[in-house]
Amino acid sequence: MPDPNGFLRYDRRLPARRPVPVRIMDWREVYPPAGEELIREQATRCMDCGIPFCHDGCPLGNRIPDWNDLVRTGGWDAAVESLHATNNFPEFTGRLCPAPCEAACVLGLGGQQPVTIKQVEVEIADAAVARGGLRPQPVPAPTGKSVAVVGSGPAGLAAAQQLARAGHAVTVYERDDALGGLLRYGIPDFKLEKRHIDRRLAQLAAEGVRFRTGVNVGVDVTAEELRAEHDAVLLACGALQGRDTPETPGRALRGVHQAMAHLVAANRVVAAAGEGRPALATLPDGTPIDAAGKHVVIIGGGDTAADCLGVAHRQGAAGVHQLDLYPEPPADRDAARDPWPTWPWVLRSYPAHEEGGERVFAVAVQEFVDDGTGQVRAVRIAEVTVEKVDGRRIVTALPGSEREIPADLVLLAIGFEGTEEQPLLDQFGVTRNGRGAVDARPDWQAGADGVFVAGDMHRGASLIVWAIAEGRAAAAAIHAYLGGVGTLPAPVDPARQPLAAR
Ligand SMILES: Cc1cc2nc3c(=O)[nH]c(=O)nc-3n(C[C@H](O)[C@H](O)[C@H](O)COP(=O)(O)OP(=O)(O)OC[C@H]3O[C@@H](n4cnc5c(N)ncnc54)[C@H](O)[C@@H]3O)c2cc1C
Ligand code: SF4
Repeated sequence: MPDPNGFLRYDRRLPARRPVPVRIMDWREVYPPAGEELIREQATRCMDCGIPFCHDGCPLGNRIPDWNDLVRTGGWDAAVESLHATNNFPEFTGRLCPAPCEAACVLGLGGQQPVTIKQVEVEIADAAVARGGLRPQPVPAPTGKSVAVVGSGPAGLAAAQQLARAGHAVTVYERDDALGGLLRYGIPDFKLEKRHIDRRLAQLAAEGVRFRTGVNVGVDVTAEELRAEHDAVLLACGALQGRDTPETPGRALRGVHQAMAHLVAANRVVAAAGEGRPALATLPDGTPIDAAGKHVVIIGGGDTAADCLGVAHRQGAAGVHQLDLYPEPPADRDAARDPWPTWPWVLRSYPAHEEGGERVFAVAVQEFVDDGTGQVRAVRIAEVTVEKVDGRRIVTALPGSEREIPADLVLLAIGFEGTEEQPLLDQFGVTRNGRGAVDARPDWQAGADGVFVAGDMHRGASLIVWAIAEGRAAAAAIHAYLGGVGTLPAPVDPARQPLAAR
């Protein structure tokens, strides 16, 4: 029986982050392990409320009150099992998920701070490793069916693991030189050290999943060839088409880049250092891209922008401004706008924000300013108001509000426009919708018979937890399509949306 008064006895507490001056000298994760005493105390704050809205907040339907109580009572092995029953990769979500479950925690109804669900999750995930490692699960007799998974992000890997565990022969094709999708070269090590991905990949390989890196499907191998070799294909190619701003004067100047160009280059340097190889941060064409000694301006307010901020500080930027089009959000939930248990619009500060830099809200770039040699020297910004009219965003600059911010390096982190235009789409008979995503039918098929889609490629740029949930659900659909025995868990359907007030 859970402790109904735990939240009255204990306040919400998270482990202290590593000190800023120390952590910006390296690329290691910001959070140290919490320690058993703290995590059991925090799990005690879960009152097992009867109708756990956190289940609805989590796209995976993680059994949160169950594992909170197991942690409270020290039942770590059972907690590990319970968590893995719904989530293939809790070490990723426990580190990186924005935790919509916490926004839906019933404690929030009474004005209390939510349970630290995400922190409990990561501690259980790490306990699994500490208590004997990620042992491969025994796989059943082969079904004789084979599946190609294109893309090795969390959606592709979750689907691959589910299908392999059902006895299908699975091959994951990845065009990059390393596996993991955005977790590998998009998200910096200070948020997710890559050993977590490698450990999981070893488990998948031991369960029979085969990996082929450096294979660009649609170019190095055609859809026809892939379909001849496999009984079904899952496309999980992500939503990697970065939004740009070609109409802004000066966009073509040297020093103005997509944020992902900077992040990928920086992550490759860290990966090379880990292998004892020296490397410079460069664009694919060899152009250096490094924030050291530079005035950096990051345009955008989301995860990608915060990751650029953390990277810029670790590279030794002279100064960083982060610009956001929208006004500064409130510190607390506005219940009239975003009632509990929906995801509230509030000011989100990432660990990168306590490392330095200045956030500037309600501004838009009017021009990237040339230093006279074709290199950016500043951005000219104006204060703006933003309105939604008939679903369209109208941005109005306030007259007389323009000013310049010095900039040697400008990073565009203004979102993604869906999955990339690439030969694979036509070859598999799938098309991008108005958002640049690929629509799925209720059985997760898209385009030609036997071709399925999941993750960001279907949903548009989203979250790891959604990618895993969609990968699991698409695997269930593929298993049914292949005539597999029984059913696999399908936490979401293609139409499922986050909790919303209307
Ligand atoms: C900088 C950044 C930070 C983020 N931080 C967070 C965070 O903190 N928390 C969070 O929940 N989410 C975060 N996200 C979002 C999250 O990373 C994505 O939602 C998630 O990775 C999507 O998973 P996916 O498997 O659908 O696609 P991806 O992870 O994008 O993987 C797609 C893979 O498909 C491969 N591919 C594409 N085309 C082909 C082809 N033709 N042949 C072979 N391979 C191909 C790509 O190379 C890639 O490896 C972040 C995103 C970015 C960009
Ligand atoms: S995956 Fe995300 S939403 Fe689900 S329980 Fe973990 S932190 Fe919460």
